Amino acid sequence: MRIAIAILLGALLVLPVVALGMTRATSMPSTASDDDAPKQGGKPTDDEKAKKEEMPVTTAKKYSRSGYDITPLSRERVAELAKKLDPEAYRVTQKAGTEPAFCGTLLDNKKDGVYCCVVCGLPLFSSTAKFNSGTGWPSFFQPFDRAHVGGRDDGSHGMERVEIFCTRCNAHLGHVFDDGPRPTGLRFCLNGAALKFYEAKDERPPESMPATTETETAYFAGGCFWGVEHYFQQAPGVFSAESGYMQGSTLNPTYKEVCEQDDAPASGRPAGFKGHAEVVKVVFDPKTITYRQLLEGFFEMHDPTQMNRQGPDYGTQYRSGLYTVGAQQAEAAKAFVTELAAKSIFKGRKIVTEIEPAKEFYPAEEYHQDYLEKNPSRGCHIGKPWWLTQQKPAAAATK
Ligand SMILES: [Zn+2]
Repeated sequence: MRIAIAILLGALLVLPVVALGMTRATSMPSTASDDDAPKQGGKPTDDEKAKKEEMPVTTAKKYSRSGYDITPLSRERVAELAKKLDPEAYRVTQKAGTEPAFCGTLLDNKKDGVYCCVVCGLPLFSSTAKFNSGTGWPSFFQPFDRAHVGGRDDGSHGMERVEIFCTRCNAHLGHVFDDGPRPTGLRFCLNGAALKFYEAKDERPPESMPATTETETAYFAGGCFWGVEHYFQQAPGVFSAESGYMQGSTLNPTYKEVCEQDDAPASGRPAGFKGHAEVVKVVFDPKTITYRQLLEGFFEMHDPTQMNRQGPDYGTQYRSGLYTVGAQQAEAAKAFVTELAAKSIFKGRKIVTEIEPAKEFYPAEEYHQDYLEKNPSRGCHIGKPWWLTQQKPAAAATK
């Protein structure tokens, strides 16, 4: 059963490895212990201070697709927040407790709104995914955003279950089972004490609202968009990576049209015809990750010396391209490629990446979005970018 859940979860929520990703070093312990109980008062000792200063400092912010800051909170910050909880919410979220069935106040709540983490305020479930499971605990068939709820194996109490937790503060929430209703077939079984409900008409506090940072958009073509999108989505400071088509001559292209664009004889094409490239649109926080840092990762992901091809995929749709927004990006892209060409990493092979001002971006069909998350068994031929291979601080250090 756990295998089935793992596959379903792969598509629906972030499993721990991905959830904690590059910030693992500073993230929460995997299980709460008595040492984590709130301590009243008292100044930190010199030892404690020294320990704190040794901790790696990372300003790399993580964002979810729905625009929330999901950077894991420090252990100190969680302890501070947990002090304000009532004893039952503390027992449930910090000690992996379970509330008795049919006792929570949110079980029969049928109002429209959002169920947030009682500790850190992150929205976890929407009322639109709530259903009556008859179990006595509030039940949902999918999370508010799959990056907000994590899952990990729980073998406690002689049972094999999958525990669910808040990815921002590591609060224990409950468990997930594979006997839920359609469309997901999952039942997220919650402790009401782990949730704080906000009615849709009510104002939510800042910690329960999307981040209000300014964003920048960039477009990258590096062969099949599945893998490129998958890796960009995991970069620090990236809100969303979306697959689509751009730079071609036709309007509203479909995947089929893009795949067939090279088949028509050149003589039959209108003058100036150009096919679309498979492109990934990346929306990011430039204070956390710079365009240049995204370029670094992009050129680690694909081979820019292959003309109209990337690994096993042949055709103009798989060409290497940077489609820039504004003069600054255009300059940065050209400078980066010039620098790269001067290095010997491609053994004399010419970089063929095209650099053009971005035209209209057409999102690809829904089944192409998050393809590798939905199909975790599918491999990908591309290389890993630096944010998946190093613990490099992503603060705009190389700006
Ligand atoms: Zn939380």
